[in-house]
Amino acid sequence: MCQEIVIIGGGIAGLSAASELARVRGTGRGILLLEAEEDVARHTSSRSAQQLIPGYGPAPVLELTRWSIDQILRAGEELAAPLAWPSAFVVAGRPEDVAAMTAPGMRSLNRDELVELCPELATNPERYPVAAIDDSAVRTDATALVAWHRARAEAAGVEIRTGARVVGLTPQDGGTWVLDVAGPGGTAAREEAAVRARTVVNAAGAWAEQIGALAGATPQELQPYRRTAALVTLAEPFAPEHPMVDDAAQDWYYRPDTVGAMISWGEAEPSDACNATPHEGAVASLAETLERETALRIAGTVKEWTGLRTSRPGDVPVCGWDAAAPGFFWLAGQGGYGFQTSSALARATAELVVQGRVGWWLSADTVEALRPAARDADVVLRCPTGTDGNPATGGAAL
Ligand SMILES: Cc1cc2nc3c(=O)[nH]c(=O)nc-3n(C[C@H](O)[C@H](O)[C@H](O)COP(=O)(O)OP(=O)(O)OC[C@H]3O[C@@H](n4cnc5c(N)ncnc54)[C@H](O)[C@@H]3O)c2cc1C
Repeated sequence: MCQEIVIIGGGIAGLSAASELARVRGTGRGILLLEAEEDVARHTSSRSAQQLIPGYGPAPVLELTRWSIDQILRAGEELAAPLAWPSAFVVAGRPEDVAAMTAPGMRSLNRDELVELCPELATNPERYPVAAIDDSAVRTDATALVAWHRARAEAAGVEIRTGARVVGLTPQDGGTWVLDVAGPGGTAAREEAAVRARTVVNAAGAWAEQIGALAGATPQELQPYRRTAALVTLAEPFAPEHPMVDDAAQDWYYRPDTVGAMISWGEAEPSDACNATPHEGAVASLAETLERETALRIAGTVKEWTGLRTSRPGDVPVCGWDAAAPGFFWLAGQGGYGFQTSSALARATAELVVQGRVGWWLSADTVEALRPAARDADVVLRCPTGTDGNPATGGAAL
């Protein structure tokens, strides 16, 4: 049987695309999501800070974020518990460092206002003389958001297959793909495990560039970057309304959490695609830094982890048809914005795959910025034919 759409990857990107594709098509039947691990969201989507910040990222990301926050808040209104709630974001430091990180919509805080909101910064007036605050930032429950998309997709008829790693992608005459799929124990025989599809959506996170290479698609220069974080207990708990705080000079950050605080170095260290784990001593040295620069007192570490944020040059995600591999769709490179851009990217994916173009809700500049990179030869060869790689439309403009 040939699937209409196969999505590779069961993180927030793949699951939100599945739920939105099912909505736009009116059914999830004919959509299969393949996830290599034994469960969905085992990689970066279970390792984030769960913060959605309207002023964080390049211009296309800001537009995708505003739209996504609105959608996530609305979706939560229908549920027993909200999917997101207000959680301000503060950048604190010297004026020049704060100015460099202040986006439109953020408000300046003088030292007294900063210390009232974040008393732990009172002890270091030289490092934290001023700040800026984004009152419109929200926190999401990443587990609940992933589960909501999964339930919505499955209720509409999407099949989600876990323990199914795509190891081969071959285009066929007639515009379909054969995907070779390995089970948990290794590569199964091709005839037992091959899947056919008209459209392949590459939502493989840190592995997206490798999936593109398997398909012979155009390289997108997607690079995974490590970021380490931890949940810690505090000697003195935060007040309930305490904001997330980012150190403007070095980018490490902390925010309140039910156990105490979530802390991160905020680093971006290049890595291969893998199941990343913290470097020895990284969390201990972050705890020392926080205790030296602020009045926070860390009582213990509950959990530590490293996730891979995958970006292409320019830090704008890639969402669109590959120029060289017809029927191959990129949904990757969400970097540190995968949750805050998820609803908008899922909707753009669904509209491009099903209808051939993105509606007016998203600006043409952002749609253009999301477009996959193309080799010059592919652009020249493909423009006269009028095809954009979309088998559903026969090639409407992106
Ligand atoms: C410390 C940290 C903090 C962050 N904080 C935030 C934040 O506050 N807000 C925010 O918006 N974003 C944040 N992010 C970024 C966000 O977590 C990511 O952008 C997002 O999770 C990426 O989702 P994804 O679905 O693309 O990737 P993933 O969640 O990694 O999913 C990709 C999936 O593809 C599967 N896969 C790979 N290869 C194959 C294959 N061959 N066959 C089948 N399946 C395959 C993998 O197993 C994986 O499940 C943070 C990230 C980190 C690390």
